[in-house]
Amino acid sequence: MRKKNGVKQDMNLVKLVEHFHSEERCRGYLEQLRWSDGVTCPRCQSKSISEIQERNQYDCNSCRYQFSVTSGTIFHDSHLPLWKWFLTAYIMIESKKGVSANQIKRTIEVSYKTAWYLCHRIREAIVVDNPTPLSKIIEVDETWVGGKRKNVGHGYKGNKVVVAGAAQRDGEARLEVIDDRTREVLHQFIKKHVAPDAEAIYTDDWPAYNGIADEDTRHETVNHSIEEWVRGDVHTNYIENIWSLLKRSLVGSYHKVSRKHLEAYLDELEWRFNNRDNPYLFRDTLLKLIKSDNLTYNKLISL
Ligand SMILES: [Zn+2]
Repeated sequence: MRKKNGVKQDMNLVKLVEHFHSEERCRGYLEQLRWSDGVTCPRCQSKSISEIQERNQYDCNSCRYQFSVTSGTIFHDSHLPLWKWFLTAYIMIESKKGVSANQIKRTIEVSYKTAWYLCHRIREAIVVDNPTPLSKIIEVDETWVGGKRKNVGHGYKGNKVVVAGAAQRDGEARLEVIDDRTREVLHQFIKKHVAPDAEAIYTDDWPAYNGIADEDTRHETVNHSIEEWVRGDVHTNYIENIWSLLKRSLVGSYHKVSRKHLEAYLDELEWRFNNRDNPYLFRDTLLKLIKSDNLTYNKLISL
């Protein structure tokens, strides 16, 4: 994995406490992010707004809708103070191995249920819809994830799930739980995430990858079964580094993994990994939270 190329994060714990120790500060920052060109009515988009200062509310002069900066966002029906959301988001993006709900519970002094739900909401919000297809050189691989069982043979896969990954060299990764590692499933995964004019796809010699090449895209393999790991530029080390990151985070933070939760962890890992050189990751995470398409928001705009 690439080290952070001297990229200095815009946020650290000291700044977080300095800037966002009060509700008012957090609210002000959300207003800046949400309404960079002036307060806008979330219902009718009017910019003719009156402020009802004492309640942190705004009143739309066009449709009379009363709203606040959190209306129609993930923060809206939450009883948690904003600074606890900010702190949790920060901890989640900052810890390379991910955090458990238990750790959040202790850190921000909430119940386990609240912590679990909070992490879940944040993971849901940072999913990237319709991500750009990967191009140039892409490594594709699969790995087994799941609990170990005692007294069963090494090849036992009964309580494990398969994760497929595609990663553009030195670039972004896409990770997904798949049903099995058959040709059909893997080819479908690759078609979904790799641009049709990608230069090359590198895999190991698992036969299900055969036939993935076409006139625009080469397919090269390293023959792991005869201990060949690197041939010139051809290897799958980049994606394998992501697997070790995934496994360390699963061991360190999450004890039991269901398929559904694993998908959410993969989204979180993807967000962190794909943004590892982004100095504004904290800000961009808050932007995702503001814009996350939650139920409240849908209800609001359909009124
Ligand atoms: Zn309005």
